[in-house]
Amino acid sequence: MSRILIVEDEAHLAEGLRFNLEAEGHSISIVSDGEAALRLLHARQNAFDAVVLDVMLPGRDGFSVAAELRRERNYVPVLMLTARGRPEDVLQGFESGADDYLPKPFELPILLARIRGLLRRREWLSQSAPDSEPAPGKAPDVFRFDGKTIDFRALEVHSGSRIVHLTQMEADLLHHLIRNAGQVVSRKAILREVWGLHQDTDTRAIDNFIVRLRRYLEDVPAAPRHLLTVRGIGYKFVAGHRT
Ligand code: CA
Repeated sequence: MSRILIVEDEAHLAEGLRFNLEAEGHSISIVSDGEAALRLLHARQNAFDAVVLDVMLPGRDGFSVAAELRRERNYVPVLMLTARGRPEDVLQGFESGADDYLPKPFELPILLARIRGLLRRREWLSQSAPDSEPAPGKAPDVFRFDGKTIDFRALEVHSGSRIVHLTQMEADLLHHLIRNAGQVVSRKAILREVWGLHQDTDTRAIDNFIVRLRRYLEDVPAAPRHLLTVRGIGYKFVAGHRT
């Protein structure tokens, strides 16, 4: 059983979600605005295994709620409900720290599958054996290179005494690039394979993520040695000297 918080001001939609998620064996709480969500999440750290967060809320919107959570170092998995046909919502959602998104209106089975995915990924990340040898073509749970350690289970990058927390989306992107280390990964492939975006989306969002990842991983972010841009195509991860 997982504990899921639904942040949605459309009562009928929230109740429909409650009904279906409870039928799957989850425990559900509902709040109808962002402030109430933050109060609840703030008061009860680790009280929830996942949050379904609508973007369009009265007062504080979903982007601001997600960003505030991450500022408070609360990394509960967030599935954001965005407006259909607004890829910029998706991108802003990722930027604010959402882990996954679903455009409205959505098919219920898809939402249930996305929530299962979020919960499973979280579980997988917390249960994977540490320091296991990576199989060819796979990224390990803990990856070390150039004096840095990326812990994909804890969603952390350790660089000297500095620890940076990764969002699930950042970790997924990094994991994908490392799994394909030495090969060029196109922006379209990233959208499709990492973020499940099949529509034509502005790929600049990826560039913003890469800029952020470079700040975490590169000694000189403006002159990257690991997260390389391949002009007109995409990106390539190069580990260089392992430490
Ligand atoms: Ca709404």
